Amino acid sequence: MFFIVLHLPFSKIWLRPPFLAARRSYKLWLLEKTLWSPFSMSTRVAIIGAGPAGLVLAATLAKKSSAFSVKVFEQGADHKAAASYDPNRSYTIDITGHGALAVEALGATELFDEKLIKFKGLRILITGEDHWFDGNGWTGSRGDICKTLLGVIDEAASPNVEVLFDTTAEVLDMMKGTVQTTSKAGERAVHEFDVVVGADGAGSKLRGVMSKLPSFAMSSINMENYSIMLHMDQNTSELDPGLLHIFGTDPFLVAGAINGNGGKSDPLWFCQVGFKGLDKGKWLQEASLKDLKTKLKKSGWPKSTDLLRYVSDKSLQEFQARMPQATGKGKMVSPWSHGRCVLVGDAGAPFPPIGLLASPSFA
Ligand SMILES: Cc1cc2nc3c(=O)[nH]c(=O)nc-3n(C[C@H](O)[C@H](O)[C@H](O)COP(=O)(O)OP(=O)(O)OC[C@H]3O[C@@H](n4cnc5c(N)ncnc54)[C@H](O)[C@@H]3O)c2cc1C
Repeated sequence: MFFIVLHLPFSKIWLRPPFLAARRSYKLWLLEKTLWSPFSMSTRVAIIGAGPAGLVLAATLAKKSSAFSVKVFEQGADHKAAASYDPNRSYTIDITGHGALAVEALGATELFDEKLIKFKGLRILITGEDHWFDGNGWTGSRGDICKTLLGVIDEAASPNVEVLFDTTAEVLDMMKGTVQTTSKAGERAVHEFDVVVGADGAGSKLRGVMSKLPSFAMSSINMENYSIMLHMDQNTSELDPGLLHIFGTDPFLVAGAINGNGGKSDPLWFCQVGFKGLDKGKWLQEASLKDLKTKLKKSGWPKSTDLLRYVSDKSLQEFQARMPQATGKGKMVSPWSHGRCVLVGDAGAPFPPIGLLASPSFA
């Protein structure tokens, strides 16, 4: 079990890896006993990255205390302005387990119920069985999940939390907490913070800076797993958006729904086509439409529902033009903090399989 101690002038923050930091009692201890100490009354916090990890932290600080001055820097555009549906980037993520606990701790269960599709369980099409999930959970695209988290921040209406989009942040000095920001228009500014949180995702630059420390150790894993998203655009009203549908095993086919343009009552469906090795991906991308169809049809067992019932030829052609995403690459880093900086979410634990990471990032 790893514990991290971040030494600050007046406070001591203990952080555990996201996948271990699940228990509510631990979170309450972290929030109430440590960050909320009288010494941290004017703590200036920079959060680099407005993905799930950065936004959950910002929402927590916005809802629970006014003792912080928080700036979130996100290099990308405002999630609210982003299109709900981008067929080249959208995929279905489930927020369950640790993620649901984080949502409950934020008091945001109702908002998540209102905005996202409720996760009900799995439908295994090769056996025809449904496995019902007991507990809170939701599915959505990363963008919809981030939009909902922004909604939690908006609801809190805290004057102390500011989210700045189109702003890239770079840590200049980890001991002093110096951060340089660059706006989209090229304007630069330098700020100092008491705590700098690197929530900048699997490709974290802050992790890159930390990795130059002699004490920093990092091991990598590459399972050579990849996936390409296939948009399901036919007969999807037959499917239950609350269930993740498992179609077959080779390639691995999992389909799920995200909000469409009309919200959760207008679901859009994606099938994640997973495979081992880029060669296999190349084959899927370069095969003739006929061969691709045969392959996808064969991937289900004889009794299985045919995936091709849910996709048009046009959608298959778009699938073939998409770049495969690595889904089995991971890193293990130690330590997760240095000076005033700490890594959270994928920045600190970019682990495979991808299907597990959003919820721990929340936690
Ligand atoms: C194809 C695919 C499928 C996935 N499917 C699932 C799934 O089914 N279930 C699941 O739980 N998870 C899934 N994941 C993983 C999930 O998306 C991530 O685990 C989660 O988004 C991690 O959250 P994060 O906030 O740590 O990082 P990110 O979501 O990566 O957010 C980091 C943010 O930091 C910003 N940023 C980076 N550098 C800077 C900088 N210098 N300055 C300012 N901003 C910066 C980035 O723009 C980004 O918005 C999937 C991922 C992929 C790629």
